[in-house]
Amino acid sequence: MNPFDLGGRTALVTGANTGLGQAIAVGLAQAGADIIAVGRSAPTVTAAMVAETGQALHAIPADLSSIAPIAEVVAQAVRDVGPIHILVNNAGIIRRADSLDFTEEDWDAVMDTNLKTAFFLSQAVARTWVADGRGGKIINICSMLSFQGGIRVPSYTASKSGLAGLTRLLACEWASKGINVNGIAPGYFETNNTEALRADETRNRDILARIPAGHWGKPSDLAGAAVFLSSDAASYVHGTVLAVDGGWLAR
Ligand code: NAP
Repeated sequence: MNPFDLGGRTALVTGANTGLGQAIAVGLAQAGADIIAVGRSAPTVTAAMVAETGQALHAIPADLSSIAPIAEVVAQAVRDVGPIHILVNNAGIIRRADSLDFTEEDWDAVMDTNLKTAFFLSQAVARTWVADGRGGKIINICSMLSFQGGIRVPSYTASKSGLAGLTRLLACEWASKGINVNGIAPGYFETNNTEALRADETRNRDILARIPAGHWGKPSDLAGAAVFLSSDAASYVHGTVLAVDGGWLAR
């Protein structure tokens, strides 16, 4: 028996068309899971990568900037694919501006996508698990800014600090129902989300100087942590936020 085997499981991953969500979807598929990709852009490349693993990918289009589509997304997933076993709340956005100038629009957009949607999607999926009398795994994609302050990203820091707190709260409420709620806190990874940082020579140099591993993370560096937290190997792991950061927090 391989405790990391995800054969026979289905993972719903939000924002799986690119970046970290794509790498997580492919990693879970390599471990044997079928994927339900939920997001606003078609996951064409991810579908091809998942197909290479021999697993299936089912796409459900949805704009997760509000909770409006959530009930239908979960109903459609269960109807068209079957029971969900793993939920990865990955879709997220970031807005940068000095706090003195930060707008309500940039506050609400980030909080709604990164935090409100993650909570209500978790609630909708967990309700199916409780109704079926079985458990499941939830992984929230947090951030270094779940632990640190950051700069010029007030709504992002609030949302990711909130998501780490929510991870602990849901773990406390749902652990006894066989639901594992955990988070992954990526360090600095090469994706669209960090393009502006990498393009800024000074920020790029400062960030690199602080990463003990000496390089930005590649999205595929995150897959192992996602497989672990999705698997039976993590069945007694509840409410933790696992940093995958090249040693950034240890510095
Ligand atoms: P990314 O390449 O910008 O991917 C973000 C994903 O979220 C995309 O699939 C995007 O879809 C989706 N998304 C955003 N808004 C959405 C909406 N309204 N409805 C549906 N999907 C939406 O960035 P990433 O780095 O892979 O980010 C993935 C997660 O990791 C985010 O939660 C981010 O905060 C977190 N994170 C990233 C880093 C890093 O270093 N990269 C570090 C810490 C945490 P579209 O392609 O359609 O926009």
